[in-house]
Amino acid sequence: MSGGIRAAPALAEKLRKLGLHRPDDLVLHLPLRYEDETRCFTVAEAPWGEPVQVEARVVDVAVQFRPRRQLVARVRDEAGDELTLRFLNFYGSQTKQLEGARDNARPLRLFGEVRSGFLGPEMVHPRYRVVDAEAPLPDALTPVYPTTAGVSQTALRKLIGIALAEADLGELFAPLDPAWLSHHGMAGFADAVHYLHHPPPGAPLGALQSREHAAWRRIKFDEALAQQLSLRRAFLARRERGSPRLAASGAGETLGRQLLARLPFALTGAQQRVVAEIEHDLAQPHPMQRLLQGDVGSGKTIVAALAACRAIEAGWQAAFMAPTEILAEQHYLKLKAWLEPLGVRVAWLSGSLKAAAKRAMQAEAAAGAQLVVGTHALIQEAVDFAKLGLAIVDEQHRFGVQQRLALRKKGGDAASGAIPHQLMMSATPIPRTLAMSYYADLDVSVLDELPPGRTPVKTKLIGDARRDQVIAAVQAAVAEGRQAYWVCPLIEESEKLQLQTALETHAVLSEELEGLRVGLVHGRLKADEKVATMAAFAAGEIDVLVATTVIEVGVDVPNASLMVIEHAERFGLSQLHQLRGRVGRGAHESVCVLLYAGPLSQTARERLKIIFENTDGFEIARQDLHLRGPGEFVGSRQSGVPLLRYADLEADADLVELAHGMAERLLCDNPAGVARHLERWLGSREELLKA
Ligand code: ADP
Ligand code: MG
Repeated sequence: MSGGIRAAPALAEKLRKLGLHRPDDLVLHLPLRYEDETRCFTVAEAPWGEPVQVEARVVDVAVQFRPRRQLVARVRDEAGDELTLRFLNFYGSQTKQLEGARDNARPLRLFGEVRSGFLGPEMVHPRYRVVDAEAPLPDALTPVYPTTAGVSQTALRKLIGIALAEADLGELFAPLDPAWLSHHGMAGFADAVHYLHHPPPGAPLGALQSREHAAWRRIKFDEALAQQLSLRRAFLARRERGSPRLAASGAGETLGRQLLARLPFALTGAQQRVVAEIEHDLAQPHPMQRLLQGDVGSGKTIVAALAACRAIEAGWQAAFMAPTEILAEQHYLKLKAWLEPLGVRVAWLSGSLKAAAKRAMQAEAAAGAQLVVGTHALIQEAVDFAKLGLAIVDEQHRFGVQQRLALRKKGGDAASGAIPHQLMMSATPIPRTLAMSYYADLDVSVLDELPPGRTPVKTKLIGDARRDQVIAAVQAAVAEGRQAYWVCPLIEESEKLQLQTALETHAVLSEELEGLRVGLVHGRLKADEKVATMAAFAAGEIDVLVATTVIEVGVDVPNASLMVIEHAERFGLSQLHQLRGRVGRGAHESVCVLLYAGPLSQTARERLKIIFENTDGFEIARQDLHLRGPGEFVGSRQSGVPLLRYADLEADADLVELAHGMAERLLCDNPAGVARHLERWLGSREELLKA
């Protein structure tokens, strides 16, 4: 490496704020846009409304006070056409400078947009330089760099020029030969950076601006490659850690088979395939790091239970973590019903257990309950697992990265440094390129088939003026022996208002639905109250459950066939999809009613249209990504994406895909090249990922 940047300490400090520590960082500090100062227009030729350069001489300078104090200059070009310059903020020195140019008849090079003004064409706040007559024009477009207060464009240009001259811009990988590069529409690395910092006159500004130019494509590819290499390397490093082999003993019926034999259904093809993938991983002596993606209702729980069976029969413990009390309790009850008859000891640990009960459960976990189910209490509380072999995280997108990593650090075997296998599950299916960025450090299994016999949920959009019809539909559903959810309007800003709304909605509906048993569940209920209400609903003792989004994920009551979402326009797409997924879980035809109140904003309208037209979670996720952009999409900062400055996961999907494929091979074939590439691109930032 060629050492630091040569700059005065004060400047160096500011450069560091821009993330510029090394000459390599300067080389990769690419322009936001360009200004074309390679040609000069006359006033008559200059296109209006876009930044252009005009050369002209000052004929008049005046400070005017109408309507407010401003500096106004008149300039005239070679052809004799005039242009007004207007400066609303100016220094006295500028007045002097322009007067000097007028007196010495020296030309100005003006850069700005020509617009129609009060006195004919004018430029407001043009950038200008006083030049000598016949001064040569620059031979490259002028780059405009991202910068910060105190670092001028001129200073950046100079430093970057030096870095470009001195840095090693060689290709690091043999596979990136000219034929391969041109096949994929990419330039060589050195050519790309030179071109982007100093595009020649006549360079296609459009392709540069939209970053579709071969030079940009190369940069974006290299960046994506660095990201993929980095994530994959972290994955491989974790693999080096040992994990217990969790394999069937071979003697007799496996626990999993016994469980399957007792179920009222057979696994779908997709479930069988995924179970096989997981069991294969569990039998390895290094940790499984697998994400199970499956749309709402695709049957992930049984897959997780079968994985747990593997761990348990191999003599290890499994932990099953869910993001909400309601969901954790539901899993606990289901898993207990499935596994206790087979002689498995299932324990429950939630944050809200009374201290004594919690201590008892912690003791149980420590002593070796075979399956421990709980909320994040599992990682937050002082649970020392005796022998944790498998950690399962349901609805993993609800947990932060730190929480997931913390669960992995629990358990295992301290003496040997072994860590538990990890299975993460998500019903928020994310598009493939996004998955490659967020989860390049995970293997992914996909449940792409719903259990048979489901009739797709019908979605209806109904304006709140027709609320009566919805009430009638609820009554009809209950009359047929079905149940309904009624989701309260979402009030994100205020928990207090949210609670109040839930109570009001419950009161109003209890009146409107006289004779029906109307229950209420919301976030402020005590845990055992929530659980009791959910149990009553599951047992059919409540007809209509008024709920906040506490029921959003995972809740499974197959007899519920009607979902009403009030003020649906306030919910996000994945929330709507999740909520709709609470129905359509049994054999009955199910309906989801989206009640909305106008007027709708443009995005609200688009969201409702998307959810109305689509049932496939992947497609909804894709459109959601499109609507919101990746940052917001996955929520809390997760690994990977912060490493991308230039590449766009959606627009550059082909490059991310290409980088993904190449990363694996390079890690095997060319570790030295990989190290240099990561050094060039990430420098110290790679530490970010070594969690
Ligand atoms: P999710 O993937 O959303 O977590 P669940 O695991 O809650 O889905 O499963 C949804 C429902 O489908 C549950 O009632 C579950 O028992 C049932 N189920 C799971 N697999 C099958 C299958 N192969 N055939 C029929 N029903 C199934
Ligand atoms: Mg689930």
